[in-house]
Formats: sequence, structure tokens, C-alpha cells
Amino acid sequence: MHSADVAIASLPKIHLHCHLEGTLRAETFVELTRRAGISTRYRPGQPDIAGPEDPAEVYRFANFGEFLLTFGAVSRSLAGPDDYARLTREFVADALAQRVRYGELFVSPSVWAFFHPELDVPATIRLIVQELRAARGHGAEFALIADVTRNFGPESAMRTARMAAELAGDGVIGIGLGGDETRFPPELFTDVYAFARAQGLRAVAHAGEAAGAQSVRDAVEQLGAERIGHGIRALEDPAVIELLRERRIPLEVCPTSNHLTGAAASDAPHPFAELDRAGVIVTIDADDPTLFGTSITREYELVARDAGLDTLKRFILQAVDASFLDGARKRGLRDRVSAELSALGAN
Ligand SMILES: [Zn+2]
Repeated sequence: MHSADVAIASLPKIHLHCHLEGTLRAETFVELTRRAGISTRYRPGQPDIAGPEDPAEVYRFANFGEFLLTFGAVSRSLAGPDDYARLTREFVADALAQRVRYGELFVSPSVWAFFHPELDVPATIRLIVQELRAARGHGAEFALIADVTRNFGPESAMRTARMAAELAGDGVIGIGLGGDETRFPPELFTDVYAFARAQGLRAVAHAGEAAGAQSVRDAVEQLGAERIGHGIRALEDPAVIELLRERRIPLEVCPTSNHLTGAAASDAPHPFAELDRAGVIVTIDADDPTLFGTSITREYELVARDAGLDTLKRFILQAVDASFLDGARKRGLRDRVSAELSALGAN
């Protein structure tokens, strides 16, 4: 292992843009599909097509269309509360092994209910929260953000927001907006976000990933999004960069995801450094780490190689500051992460 990689393995890490379902281990995915007698690829409304069954192959895909078939199959393979509990246990083990200290993780309950209408969603979320609490004894803490899926429309989104509000004292801290950004713009979800914010939920949204800078502006101005998932296409409009700077709206940047989905050109350096130079608050995460064949450690390595270790360390502290922890807990985490970063800097 390269010495820089050793240093990055030791760094404290913060998840602000990680989908819990997208952390499913390949071995577990294969096991769950075998048990259910389903393929590792899923096409909506069509017969199954065969997919790879070797864990080393199961998350390989040639294009974004194939990725969506895999994502569908992952969602389908997670059938009952026990599967989500196992997913969460394995996530916690993998996060602790990578020295993740804190995380706000997305879950997509409307996707669960689409594949498994019989699933008791609130009970499943409570079970996930319970499993996440096991990390506390190991110095890490996690909260959940319920991601609303654009494709299911505003009524489904409102149901998710109501459920998130009911679970607000129980590990759920906010709502997010995922799914098809080009066909389902932020304006469809203004009532949902107004409701959620009135309930004390924090607000984030994917934007500026598949659609351009206007989508970022609308997520901020119409939804009150306090952080933007990806947001890299804000660079297409200097006025939107200025908006992010002025309002101090952080971006949750996921380089490998952006290259694989085509949100960022794969033959050019990722624009995180350009966003940073423009004065936008950049944080780094892995999106759907196992599905994209990456990890938060790997994303940190990519950033350190492009921009240097000091820039990466600054991004880590920016992620602490961009978290939704309350004042005292945020200060506590910041002190601890700063101390760990400076101890490593002295090596
Ligand atoms: Zn995402």
C-alpha cells in the first residue's frame, strides 16, 4: 500500500451523502437474491434477465442503464426487516473499519414499499436506528435522512415526509430528494418541504447532478434545501455559485458516482477543486459505495491525490460543520476530529 493511502485509511471520516441501501456488501446481495430465487438484475415490468452471481462480478456494469438494473435488484433483494437489520449491521462494521466517526445516511422508504408493499416501513426504520446505535459503543454515531423519490410524485413524497416527522425523535433528522431530477423538478415538492421544515426536519436535496444549475437554485430557493447532494452543475451558472457561497450551502460531492453516472466527464479531473476555488463549501462522500465499486476511503484517496492531503483534511472539517448535529455535539465532534487530524499531520 502506498504511504499516502495508509494515512488516508487512518483519517477520521464523515458520511453526509451515503445511501444505506447502496452499502450492501456484494456477498450479501448474492446471498439474498439466491434465497429469494431472483436475479441480480431487475427490469421494471419485464421478466428477469440473468445477472452475474459471483460477488466479484455482481456490481460490475458497463453503463448507467445496467447500473439501474442492479440498483433495482438490490432494492428487491432487501425484502424484510431482518434484511435491513443485517444491511445496517454490516454497514456499521464496514464504517467502523474505515474510521467513520459520524454519518447522516439516506434511506429510501418509498422504494422499499414499491418493491415490498407488505413491509412495515416505520418498524423497519426503527430497527435500522437500533442497529446504528450499536456504533456508539465504538465511538461513532449515525442518523437517518428519509429520501423522497421524485418519480413517485408529490403524494408519495408527502407520505414519506409525514412518516419522517413521526420518527423525528427516533433517529430520523430530515428529508432528502432523490430519483429522476430531469423529469420531476423541485417545484413539485415545495409543499412537502414546507411541511417537513415546519415539523423541524432538516432539508437536503439531490440537485445539479442530472439537471443543470437551475435545479440547484430551485432546491435552495423553493425547497429550502440546507445542503445539496452533488450540485456540481452549479458551475454552469456563476449566479448559482454565488447563491451557494452567500448562503453557505454545502455540497455533498461524490466523485466516482459523478464519473459513472456521467454527471461529470470521466476523462477530465472532477470539478470539486473548481467548486472549492470558487468558494463553495465542498464535502466528500461515496453515494452508493459498494454498488459503485468504491468506499469513502477510496473517495478520500482520490481527492488527496488530486488536491493534496491538506485540502482533504479541510473538507473533512467542513463536513463536520455541515452536519446537522446541534451546537454542543458538533463542537465535540469537531474537537475530536481536529485532534485526530493534527495527530496524523504530525506523522
Ligand atoms: Zn445520492
